[in-house]
Amino acid sequence: MPGRLTGKVALITGAGSGIGLEASILFAKEGAQVVAADINEQSGQATVKKIHDLVGPKSAVFVRVDVAKESDIANAVKVAETEYGKLNIVFNNAGIMHPADDDAINTEEKIWDLTMQINVKGVWWGCKHAIPALRRAGGGSIINTASFVALRGAATPQLAYTSSKGAVLAMTRELSVIHARENIRVNALCPGPIRTPLLMDFLNTEEKKQRRLIHVPMGRFGEAIEQAYAVLFLASDESSFITGTDFLVDGGLTAAYVTPE
Ligand code: NAD
Repeated sequence: MPGRLTGKVALITGAGSGIGLEASILFAKEGAQVVAADINEQSGQATVKKIHDLVGPKSAVFVRVDVAKESDIANAVKVAETEYGKLNIVFNNAGIMHPADDDAINTEEKIWDLTMQINVKGVWWGCKHAIPALRRAGGGSIINTASFVALRGAATPQLAYTSSKGAVLAMTRELSVIHARENIRVNALCPGPIRTPLLMDFLNTEEKKQRRLIHVPMGRFGEAIEQAYAVLFLASDESSFITGTDFLVDGGLTAAYVTPE
């Protein structure tokens, strides 16, 4: 049985943890060859080892990438084309939510700049260097990770993060229009609150967790694999008429006015 991504080559950033880790494994299981990129060499290599053990040694390769550095992203695209001959899918997923991110008054400029550098510029570099490669492959699919906070305001301030994810949505929308006739689709993934280190390090007490869960109709945090399944759909040809979307995977959070008892 061919997989849903058989014959495709995918570049995934932030592949060492959370959503990127689950997407890397799922993509490889579905037949893709995966270039797993992360700033953290140890966790990125561990992802690749897991894929090798599960699927085989030719199914994944690790590249150390700081998405904020243009040359690192350019190199990752080059690795995809030299190792696997082409690039079809790019999942610009790496992102940070800094513990010192706060409201308009208290957020320091260096925290704002760092967040923008990784969450916004990192996605731009990913698109800038992937698009020529996707053109060479005859088209492809880009998925950029935004967040539900780009669509709803929160009373828990994380202003730089929220602003950065709004920028990812706007960037994704424009790119989707510009490249639509080149057979290049560009969609944004908008996860709700997910049980990954990024969020659990932030909601580090039971009280903070419950304060967030009140707003989720399903009454639980999402799992990284539930995001990975959505990304698989957006990456595959099954979503061939979908571009420019803010693809929400949020347990109903953005639909809720009042949640069940
Ligand atoms: P995570 O912290 O579990 O994983 C993020 C990965 O990105 C890590 O492996 C980290 O090493 C890597 N990374 C960080 N900075 C990098 C850089 N400069 N270059 C390359 N790699 C880098 O987080 P996650 O929850 O899986 O988040 C993935 C994406 O989903 C992020 O963009 C995040 O903002 C977004 N998101 C997460 C949630 C959530 O609730 N967890 C909700 C909405 C959106």
